[in-house]
Amino acid sequence: MKFAQEFRKALQREAFPQKWVDCAIPYGQLKKCLKKVTKELQEIGLDKETLARLAADQHQPSSDNAPADLGFSYHLDVDGVKGKAAESARLRPRLTVFIHLEDGVAVDAKLSPSTRDFLQKLALSNTKATDSTTPADSKLFMPPAASSGDQEIPSSSATNIRQVEVPLVFDAEFFEILQNDVSNIGALQKEEQAKLEGQIVALGEQLGKAVEPSRGRKAKSDLDVWRQIFELYLEARVFFSSRESDHGARTTTQAVDQLKWFQDQVVQRKLIPKLKLGASQTAFENFVSINSALLAILKFQEINRIAVTKILKKFDKRTSLGVSSTFPVVVRSGRSLTSSVAQDVCAQMSTELISVVPQLDDYLCPICFAIAYWPVKLHCQHVFCSRCLVKMSRKNERHCPLCRSDTIMLAGLENFDADRAAFLRKYFPKEVKEKIRANERERNQEIFGPAHDSLHCCIM
Ligand SMILES: [Zn+2]
Ligand SMILES: [Zn+2]
Repeated sequence: MKFAQEFRKALQREAFPQKWVDCAIPYGQLKKCLKKVTKELQEIGLDKETLARLAADQHQPSSDNAPADLGFSYHLDVDGVKGKAAESARLRPRLTVFIHLEDGVAVDAKLSPSTRDFLQKLALSNTKATDSTTPADSKLFMPPAASSGDQEIPSSSATNIRQVEVPLVFDAEFFEILQNDVSNIGALQKEEQAKLEGQIVALGEQLGKAVEPSRGRKAKSDLDVWRQIFELYLEARVFFSSRESDHGARTTTQAVDQLKWFQDQVVQRKLIPKLKLGASQTAFENFVSINSALLAILKFQEINRIAVTKILKKFDKRTSLGVSSTFPVVVRSGRSLTSSVAQDVCAQMSTELISVVPQLDDYLCPICFAIAYWPVKLHCQHVFCSRCLVKMSRKNERHCPLCRSDTIMLAGLENFDADRAAFLRKYFPKEVKEKIRANERERNQEIFGPAHDSLHCCIM
């Protein structure tokens, strides 16, 4: 299937909003415009074969003292005010051909007589226009002798090299269409992202209120279920992976699979029926729909990115101008197709939403791996359970096991973190009770010996 067709089908299949579809890369229009670009270049004798030959010659410096080989440079200039977003700047493609002039006459066997004639006329009439400085990124196709940016480069023979900027109408049009569209998609994406972030904030507030433990038994029970939901969600790593084996952003296909895995797990563990509050049930629906919306944005972004890559490849195939490597670089500096919506939205989900339901993992003592209760915050800011610190100081261990600073012996009553203790009692009552019991058991064993536990049972 041709890509144009595939692209259209992909847009239909995903059932994107019409507004998005209207913004999609106009692949067909660009293809038509590319035809005109090709024709324009052919008419002046700079067809893809000629340009490819010129480019290839750059890599083979001439053996004898012949004048530096003729070549061309092609780059996209960014016209625009400095400091302004790159998306508002205009791209101006510039094709510069280097020709040899011998007494004002173009000589080059690689060009057809009519092309030589055309370039010679341009060179002579455009003496002023060629005065422009050459940007540094045009080195790719430049003969070494021309890298100084001089308009006329003296060489050992009687010839000199002239830079001629070739005016191209449809080439400029092509990039105008493409760039406009890329920046439209960027704007749309920004808008959708803002919408999504608003929804996340609202959901965070809604959820925070619903499961606030002081609201009663149902809230406490729901809080526990939400903790399991978010644990699964974090494990699913829907949009990113932090694992070494597959580190980084996921493709949308992977994200679809991961999101499905998460939803399946929630169903399998019958977590939704366990939510006792209506507000919790609604919150879960909203949570899933925010994730689906983010996924849709990423899918739209992905297929448009493919469309851009495809059309640029086609451009290079038809013209040999080598633009597919420069366009993404020029555009990447702006927030366009390559910006990290997923990263931004996920970061927001974790600060606004997932943090509403504290995860036990964040409150464990790094020594005993149980909840850090009573919490003691050392002067180095690391938190441990009081029990572990007592044991360490008995062994005369002075240094914090996390940062090695000499803080353990300095810990006093003022290091007991009462706020954190209250927070832990509120959000992890079960774990706190368990930890208190374990601490007591340990202390009793220390006092009465290891047999204490079984003895205790006998008495009961
Ligand atoms: Zn501990
Ligand atoms: Zn420390």
